[in-house]
Amino acid sequence: MDIFAQLPDASVLTGPERTAAYRHDESHLTGDEPLAVVRPRGPAALRALVAMAKAEGFALVPRGAGTGKAGGCLPMGRSVVVDMKDYPGEIRVSRPDLALWAPASAMLKDVKAAALAQGLFYAPDPNSWDQCAFGGTLATNAGGPGACKYGMTRQWVLAVDALMDDGEVHTFGIPSVKCNTGPSLGQLLIGSEGIFGIITGATVRLVPAPRERLTLLLPMERWHDLLDLPGRLVEAGFLPAAFEFCDPAVLSDLRTHGPEAARRMPGEALALLEFDDRDCGSEAFLEALMDGLGDLAEHLQSATDARQREALWAVRRTTSVHLKERYPEKVSEDIVVPRSRIREFFEGLEAMGLPTVTYGHLGDGNLHVNLLQAGTTPAPELERQLMDLFGLCVGLGGTLSGEHGIGLAKREAFRHFADPYQLEALGAIKKALDPSGIFNPGKVI
Ligand SMILES: Cc1cc2nc3c(=O)[nH]c(=O)nc-3n(C[C@H](O)[C@H](O)[C@H](O)COP(=O)(O)OP(=O)(O)OC[C@H]3O[C@@H](n4cnc5c(N)ncnc54)[C@H](O)[C@@H]3O)c2cc1C
Repeated sequence: MDIFAQLPDASVLTGPERTAAYRHDESHLTGDEPLAVVRPRGPAALRALVAMAKAEGFALVPRGAGTGKAGGCLPMGRSVVVDMKDYPGEIRVSRPDLALWAPASAMLKDVKAAALAQGLFYAPDPNSWDQCAFGGTLATNAGGPGACKYGMTRQWVLAVDALMDDGEVHTFGIPSVKCNTGPSLGQLLIGSEGIFGIITGATVRLVPAPRERLTLLLPMERWHDLLDLPGRLVEAGFLPAAFEFCDPAVLSDLRTHGPEAARRMPGEALALLEFDDRDCGSEAFLEALMDGLGDLAEHLQSATDARQREALWAVRRTTSVHLKERYPEKVSEDIVVPRSRIREFFEGLEAMGLPTVTYGHLGDGNLHVNLLQAGTTPAPELERQLMDLFGLCVGLGGTLSGEHGIGLAKREAFRHFADPYQLEALGAIKKALDPSGIFNPGKVI
C-alpha cells in the first residue's frame, strides 16, 4: 500500500526518476533515493508526516531550494524529503514594528524586495540570494558580503515558526527586538540545518534602507599590503558594507582567461569595498577614506550610481563561476579567521605549501580557499590537505565554515575539531528536541 497516498494537503513524488533531482544539492555529494518527496501545503500534512515518520521509522529531510553546499538536504537511508516550496503564506511587512514575516517557501529575493518596496532593508545577502529559499537561509544561517557590517541571518531573526517533534507548528519569539524570556529556542533553530525541526516561517527585523552607496575597486600594487587593510580600516572608523578580494593567483587567472573587464586590471591583487553610510557619496567621506588608504588609493576607481557600481562588482561576481568552469573538480572551502589574523593565515598557508587559490570576504575573514587540483589528488591526500587547512584556521581562533554549514560534507571535520563538551551538549539537545531521531539524522553531529 502507498502510505503517502493518505497524506492530507500535500503532493507526493515517488520513484527513481521523479525524485532523482532531490539526490543533489550544490555540494559534490549524492544522496540515496528517498522513499518519497512530499510537498506539504499546510500544518495538517506536517502533522501526518511526523506521525508517519515515527510509526514507519523513516527520517524527514527538509529542503528549500537545494542550493546548499554541504549536502544538508540530501536524503540518506530511509528518508522522505520534505520540499517546502508549496508551503502557504504571503510575505507581510509591518512598518511600525520594522518587521517582516514570510513563509519558509518564499524566495529570499522576494523577501528582500518586499522590504525594499517599503523603503526598508533586510540585510542577509548570500551570493545565492536570487536562488535560495527564505527557509533554507534560516536553517543555514546564511550570510554574504554584507555580513562584515550587518552580520548573518541569525542577527536578523525575531521569531521562528517551526514544526517540532509533537507534530505541531510552534512560534518561538515575538515580533520585537526586546524579548528576554530565557534562552531562545528560536535562535537554536537558526543554523540548525533541519536537525531539530522544520522551519515553516519566521519574523525578521528590518532597518531603514541605506540611501547612498559608494563602491570602490582597489587594485593592489602589492598583495601583502591588502592583508592588514580590513583591520586598519575598522580601526580608522570605517565599517564597509562589503570588503571582497581576489588573491594574486585568482586575479592572474581572471586576467588571462576571465571576462574582458578583468583583463585590464592592474596590480597583484584586487579588493572591492562598498560603503552605505549616510553621506558616503560625499567628497568629504571619500577624502577621509583616501587619507586612510594612503598610497594604496593610487589606482582606485569609485562609483556611486547603480550602473557604474555594477560594472565594478562584475569581476568579483564572476569569480566563482569562472573558476568552477575552468576547474570543475576543484574543492572550494569557506573557512574563517578573525580579521586581525588574516596575515598570519596567509603566511601559514604559504608555509604549508598547499596548492590553493583564494578569494572571498576579506572584511570578515571568511575566505574561499580553493584546491584547484582536488579532482586529481588521491582522496587520503586531499583529506589531509583539508584537515591541515582547517587546523590552521582553528589554531588562529577561526573555524571551518563561515557560510555553508556542516551538513554531511564537513561532519567528520566538525567532530574532529569541536570541543567534546560542545558535541555532547549538542547531542543532548538533539535528543531532547527530537527523541525519535526523525529530523535530518546523520547531518551536522
Ligand atoms: C552560487 C552559490 C553561492 C552561494 N553563496 C553563499 C553565500 O554567500 N553565503 C551563504 O551563506 N551560502 C551561500 N551558498 C549556499 C546556499 O545558497 C545557502 O546555504 C542557502 O541558505 C541555502 O538555501 P536553500 O533554500 O537552497 O536550502 P537547501 O539547500 O534546500 O537546504 C540547506 C539546509 O537547510 C535545511 N533546510 C532547508 N529548508 C529548511 C526548513 N524549512 N526547515 C529546516 N531546515 C531546512 C536542509 O535540510 C539543509 O540542511 C551559495 C550557494 C551557491 C550555489
